[in-house]
Amino acid sequence: MQTDALFWDSLVFEGIGEVEVEAVSAAFGTVEVVARGRAGGAACPDCGRFSGRVHDRYQRRLKDLPLADQGFVIQLTVRRFICGSADCARRTFAEPFSRLTVPHARFTTRLNHALGQVGLALAGRAGARLAAQLGFGAGRMTLLRRVMALPDPRFSTLRLLGVDDFAIRRGQSYSTVLTSVEDHRVVDVLPTREAGPLAAWLDRHPGVEIICRDRAGAYAVGARRGASDALQVADRFHLWQGLGRAVESCVAAHRDCLRTPAPGGTLPEATRPPSGRSQDEAEPAGRRAARKKAAHALVHEMLAQGHSRRAIARREWPWAGA
Ligand SMILES: [Zn+2]
Repeated sequence: MQTDALFWDSLVFEGIGEVEVEAVSAAFGTVEVVARGRAGGAACPDCGRFSGRVHDRYQRRLKDLPLADQGFVIQLTVRRFICGSADCARRTFAEPFSRLTVPHARFTTRLNHALGQVGLALAGRAGARLAAQLGFGAGRMTLLRRVMALPDPRFSTLRLLGVDDFAIRRGQSYSTVLTSVEDHRVVDVLPTREAGPLAAWLDRHPGVEIICRDRAGAYAVGARRGASDALQVADRFHLWQGLGRAVESCVAAHRDCLRTPAPGGTLPEATRPPSGRSQDEAEPAGRRAARKKAAHALVHEMLAQGHSRRAIARREWPWAGA
């Protein structure tokens, strides 16, 4: 079936200008386009010399975005050209289709782009479920590979750098995340939370003026070594966290100084309990508290009988989920 290439270009697929469409068929829920390259030849990827001498042809089957709820496949005949240049090590090279796809890909560039976006938004399993609904037919590993193949985001010179640690596995292994404080973007991740990698990173990325970090000594050392002129400041989160802890430990140390409120609601003169917390002070009441007390007593009774904590935890408790 002869088709008008310009018509298809505007309606069907990106890069159709690079191919001659030879046939279009639709069966079993899939539209199949049979096509071949229309260029007279191509430049050798190694030496750049143009060649139109065909060595052989082979078939590629490219999956594209669905078309009107039908699958869409391009059956592409690819020519392999001979590089005739005497000083080039390459003997043959495949015809490129730079707008349609990349070498060895099973999908068109635009389907790959869509899969990358689904993978970025939803990652593996959830992404694969959405991809199946959209008719993309890609498994979770395909989506993850698409995401891994995406280029790292580029950033210009940073003026304000945020440095903080995060747990790969809490209590065991930690990394360092570097952020752009001005636009709240992650710019890099360092393998450890030691001074060396931070100093090396700062050395490779000059221009940082202010380093906003938590108060770990290693970051102070790393920042000093890598960017000695930069101003180091404690970030707001860690200041608040430090202040909160200081207040908590101060109040806890002075708990005995707190006065017991009078039953009537008015504060009496200082009546300090003789020691610690008296029995009737701040005892929670109500059905919920009674249930908790009963559960507490039962758990301790079972422990006393020799049941393990794991066995007790596994029991079906009547109040579970309450
Ligand atoms: Zn060559």
